Amino acid sequence: MRSRRLVLATLAALALLAAACGGEERGVEVTTVTPVAVEETPERVGVTEEEVRIVPPELLVSADEVAQGSAILVSVTGSVTEGDVELLGRVYPLTQGDFSKYTYIGIGVHDTPGVHAMRVRLTLANGTSGSFEHEVSVSETQWDVARIYYVEGAGDPVLDADERGREDVLLAEAYALETPEKLWEGRWRVPTEGAISSHFGERRSFNDGPVGGNHGGTDFGAAEGTPVQAANSGRVVLARQLAIRGNTVIIDHGGGVLTGYAHLSAYAVAEGQIVEKGQLIAFVGNSGLSTAPHLHWEISVHGVLVDPMRWVDGRNGF
Ligand SMILES: [Zn+2]
Repeated sequence: MRSRRLVLATLAALALLAAACGGEERGVEVTTVTPVAVEETPERVGVTEEEVRIVPPELLVSADEVAQGSAILVSVTGSVTEGDVELLGRVYPLTQGDFSKYTYIGIGVHDTPGVHAMRVRLTLANGTSGSFEHEVSVSETQWDVARIYYVEGAGDPVLDADERGREDVLLAEAYALETPEKLWEGRWRVPTEGAISSHFGERRSFNDGPVGGNHGGTDFGAAEGTPVQAANSGRVVLARQLAIRGNTVIIDHGGGVLTGYAHLSAYAVAEGQIVEKGQLIAFVGNSGLSTAPHLHWEISVHGVLVDPMRWVDGRNGF
């Protein structure tokens, strides 16, 4: 399947090149590959096509088959000035990297399993535009259900709808950050010692009540005061107390990738501070909606929460 898609991508690249070098034939009809479309764009004033050397674009996708909770890397090389990627009804602008233009895309727990069309729209250096069409298959992930039993009492944590709403808005704003510069590199590291006490995506039922929504991160059980380190390099964009997550640190790693660290007892960094991978940022605590000291660690890709452990163990393929 991969080789067929590669051929399609190559044909699409040729179609774009044909459009780029099309001489008088502007608005080239592409008949070799459907549904690649090449659109006519206005001539650039004062620049002839001979003066613009076009390197045909090539599309690279880190995986064609992805699970809910994973992430993919989409990159395009060649003489591309701008572009975006549309998948699962969401649009992601391409960011300039060292060798390509790229974007990471998170596959959320609610994204529908099945084969989805991904469209990559590009504008070339000579002003022509076109697109790649690619298929991405999303597979369903079976999430564990944790059945938790406790004796009800006055000290039970309470979910306040208004507070949750305010926190969701604040988190959504932070996770919507699109800093173009990529600040992280290499494999991600787990941010604290201690065993995993709750996996990403896990669903919970309390005292045989209804099964709730998916857990947005990975929990590590650790004693209060255990050091928490940055999972990768970035800039601290939030270090403050929230109602549910308690004392929380959020790090922007650039390119729409951010990590959150919740229920902390104390901070070791301030908002705006640049941090290196492995740098001490905070200490494990029991603040916010939490019944025992632990670290809740989450990773957001353009606002979509995905499984952070896939970034540690390489299961995403990048
Ligand atoms: Zn958690």
